[in-house]
Amino acid sequence: MKMFDSDRRASKVPRIAETASRPFESRQTVRTKIVATIGPACREEESLRGLVEAGVAVFRLNMAHGSIPEHQESLDRIRRVSDGLGRPVGVLVDLAGPKIRLGELPGGAIECAEGAEFRFIRGSETQQPDEFVTTYATLLDELTVGDAVMLADGTISLIVEECTPTFARCRVVQPGLVRSRQGVNLPGVKLSVAAMSAADWQHAEWAAGAGADFVSLSFVRSAVEVKLLKELLRTRGSVARVVAKIEKREAIDNLESIVDAADVVMVARGDLGVEIDVASMPMVQKQIIRVCHRYQKPVIVATQMLDSMQHSRRPTRAETTDVANAILDGADACMLSGETAIGEHPRLVVEMMRRIASATEQQYLEDRWQYLDGHFSKSRGPVGIPAAEFLPPPEFLVEGLHPITQAVVDGASRIAAELNAKLVVVASRSGVTAIARSKRRGAVPTIGVSDSVATLRQMSLYWGVTPLAAVESPDINGLLEHVSAWGLREGRLERGDRILLVAGIGFGTGGHNMALVHEV
Ligand code: PGA
Ligand code: MN
Repeated sequence: MKMFDSDRRASKVPRIAETASRPFESRQTVRTKIVATIGPACREEESLRGLVEAGVAVFRLNMAHGSIPEHQESLDRIRRVSDGLGRPVGVLVDLAGPKIRLGELPGGAIECAEGAEFRFIRGSETQQPDEFVTTYATLLDELTVGDAVMLADGTISLIVEECTPTFARCRVVQPGLVRSRQGVNLPGVKLSVAAMSAADWQHAEWAAGAGADFVSLSFVRSAVEVKLLKELLRTRGSVARVVAKIEKREAIDNLESIVDAADVVMVARGDLGVEIDVASMPMVQKQIIRVCHRYQKPVIVATQMLDSMQHSRRPTRAETTDVANAILDGADACMLSGETAIGEHPRLVVEMMRRIASATEQQYLEDRWQYLDGHFSKSRGPVGIPAAEFLPPPEFLVEGLHPITQAVVDGASRIAAELNAKLVVVASRSGVTAIARSKRRGAVPTIGVSDSVATLRQMSLYWGVTPLAAVESPDINGLLEHVSAWGLREGRLERGDRILLVAGIGFGTGGHNMALVHEV
């Protein structure tokens, strides 16, 4: 019986409060996924293991720093830790994309005083203390009078006052200290730079060869750039899913087509908050997440989520609220950057994020109709089931998903809620059925069973989905036994509990055509 191959690409309201109070639930059923960036603070195998135990689902390798051998070593360590714990962990290779950086500054840093003049010149070296060079060779040809140039993460801002063939003269309107090689943002300037540099190509090829689970592209401007990276990976035999990082005005302008083209989306607030007005960023975050819901794409919210915990053992009130609000906005995952890469308390910060997620989700699951914007009304379905379980069919199907599968997933979600089932088990070879189930935001936890290791790792990112390796060539009974035994062992099931299985059995429909209720 073929249960996996239908992905064409390869009693009451659930008692949330009760289930959440069971001790084993805390880690496994936190639905929002945690992405952690690797860096010197957590690279050792022991620390990585601690982070996975604390709840990290996916590690990000930031290719803007470090060498390929270093990243290969991190990747090997992650795979060893994951194997050792028997828990699938995803690896996201993050390509730097067309990030512009300053060159070396005399003395390593310079104070940009308000009203002071600086000149951007060509070449790679400065002669004068009031001159800047950048990594972007054609910068002078693309700047015009009136453009804003932001340095040091947007803390310093300059306005271009004069452009000549050999320099662009700027005046500091917001002062600050800038260091060598810090980023340069040009909000609103349409750059001609290619989406991927030679280094990005090399990194992408390495990612494909190394078996990365996700590859992200920074500073995406159009859907074509996403498709290009997808093509590059596919032709190198990679099944990695492509993450589009939304961090430029142009990406907001082309949001729908980019989201449509991408497999996963990241709200990359670090640069987004410089490239657009930081005051409008919170609402743009919500806008991006809403589009991701319409297109059924997992979405990661990134940067400064628990920033103060780089040094502090406790987050600020604003930070805990930010994580909670991202979850209420509908984020599938939240990302940690400096907090885990260079911070003093990587494990504490992961634990904190997980606790905030856990506390937020209890309420979220009861009130989803409020948060899943525009999809359904406050009204409840039959027998007291929240209207969230009665979502109308989605506007757009997950790429590669058969409409039959969508209907069966929706039906199974309702049945699970109505019967107060403990798990929805989705057999999924490529993972697309798991995405479909995940994006329905069902309250009943989802188990994504797959016989593909790559799929299991990818499913670790999807909201509410716990990946579980299939037994070899299972039939329906074998699969149910396998999941039941696992659930009993892990304390997630008790005898008599009901579970829902979504699978495909060979009647040639091309989709997952079966939803089955099983009593453990
Ligand atoms: P970065 O991306 O950390 O690679 O810049 C995330 C962001 O900009 O928020
Ligand atoms: Mn960025």
